[in-house]
Amino acid sequence: MTRNQELFERARKIIPGGVNSPVRAFRSVGGTPPFIASGLGPHVFDAEGLRYLDYVCSWGPLILGHAHPDVVRAVQEAATKGLSFGAPTQGEVELAELLVKLVPSMDMLRLVSSGTEATMSAIRLARGFTGRDAIIKFEGCYHGHADSLLVKAGSGALTFGNPSSGGVPADLAKHTLVLDYNSVDQLEDAFRQHGDKIAAVIVEPVAGNMNLIAPKTEFLKTLRELCSRHGAVLIFDEVMTGFRVGINSAQGLYGITPDLSTFGKVIGGGMPLGAFGGRRDIMEKIAPLGPVYQAGTLSGNPLSVAAGLATLRLIQQPGFYASLSAKTLRLTEGLSAAGRKHGVALSAQAVGGMFGLYFRATPPTSYAEVMESDKETFNRFFHAMLAAGQYLAPSAFEAGFVSAAHSEADIDSTVAAADAILASLRMT
Ligand SMILES: *Cc1c(COP(=O)(O)O)cnc(C)c1O
Repeated sequence: MTRNQELFERARKIIPGGVNSPVRAFRSVGGTPPFIASGLGPHVFDAEGLRYLDYVCSWGPLILGHAHPDVVRAVQEAATKGLSFGAPTQGEVELAELLVKLVPSMDMLRLVSSGTEATMSAIRLARGFTGRDAIIKFEGCYHGHADSLLVKAGSGALTFGNPSSGGVPADLAKHTLVLDYNSVDQLEDAFRQHGDKIAAVIVEPVAGNMNLIAPKTEFLKTLRELCSRHGAVLIFDEVMTGFRVGINSAQGLYGITPDLSTFGKVIGGGMPLGAFGGRRDIMEKIAPLGPVYQAGTLSGNPLSVAAGLATLRLIQQPGFYASLSAKTLRLTEGLSAAGRKHGVALSAQAVGGMFGLYFRATPPTSYAEVMESDKETFNRFFHAMLAAGQYLAPSAFEAGFVSAAHSEADIDSTVAAADAILASLRMT
């Protein structure tokens, strides 16, 4: 038995599935996940000392790669001064000031410890602000694991939803309407029918939790118009896209101003940190100013704030996103070309530093289309890439991430590995 298998066996005895978040268990692709011992720059090293070029980057946060010296130093310095106070600190103010400067739609914000907390709090706030209960989400978008958001579509197109997880009360799920991503028609119908009941629409401005689906401009524009017209709060869930697709996040990239935004992942630089913020009149409804309750013992934790500040300082360097986007595009173009060369139905696309890789001829524009991709071929490709030291997300339905630490030579090595594997896939 290998060291990874040994650890997995021990883990499964006492941690459900052997993991602390389901996708890590490799259920979708099968096999044993490497247990990671360390990371440096674009690489991770497993318990057996094997090195992988990492395109998961902790599922997005590590935009500077692993163990960036400035980030590590900032955390070490913060740690020497004490780990947590449960009282306000200067670092929190500096991080909040930087975030509202970079994301102009936010007049005010609050820091939390995860993306889930950020979206859960934003939904509660939107309900408290509007005095309405119903929310709209889109199939395939993930917004963390709060009850109201673990909901799948109801039986008819415009009927309210059913729980997508055990333990979620149907009484709660019935307030969530689940529509198709990128469907302008469904949005218009939903607002025509339920407009005066809708507290909020929550959306990933680039969908990154059903592989990657780019938004249609018309879709985001219609969202903004309908929410304004009907008095619903538009929530951009930028937990993944925030500072991942550009310095002003997806809202800057597409020129749409949401009412509330949620952040996580990159803003914590690898430490537990999230944020939600937006219009002042809405944010002032939060306790202690207003009636909507929200709190956290470790919110604004000094180590997380230090890692976030160090990360946000570095990504403001001129040319940072141009370089990151160019490298990500080099990867997706290289992979697409390798697919064409070997006659494999494979496509790929990039938005900033995130990418989608699909075993189908063209990039999908909807959840239904992404579901049509060839999962079996992906799984064979995934395992061959892993064996070649290339660590992709262990599921055909997850996005990938490139960091500033990935060099052009790293990217080219990935494309070369894929090229060889696709050649052999075609022959078998
Ligand atoms: C990761 C993610 C979340 C949840 O964040 P956690 O920190 O895992 O709780 C919410 N929304 C989106 C869009 C995400 O990608």
